[in-house]
Amino acid sequence: MNFCENCNLACQDERCPKCGRKKLRAVHDDDFCFVARVDRALGDHLKFFLDNEKIACVLMPYGTGVRAKFALPSESYLLYVQYENLESVRQILQELQKSNI
Ligand SMILES: [Zn+2]
Repeated sequence: MNFCENCNLACQDERCPKCGRKKLRAVHDDDFCFVARVDRALGDHLKFFLDNEKIACVLMPYGTGVRAKFALPSESYLLYVQYENLESVRQILQELQKSNI
């Protein structure tokens, strides 16, 4: 798996699918990788859950400034977790989304 330091994105490709950068390095277990954009309620819920599980996560507020331009919901986060937890957090996120909807 490769890692784009620009985007904090783990990917299998030679080049980053987000920014197109070609010089990617191998991902490390402790690299924080982008997981998904989540709405605020889900993000807060997830943070609580991950804190309980002792999984480190970073929630970056998203939407201020550009939100009017792109007509996005005002309150959302970009979620990042360390690569070693990426798959399990994706699964947790899916479960939470199912139960929330
Ligand atoms: Zn990138």
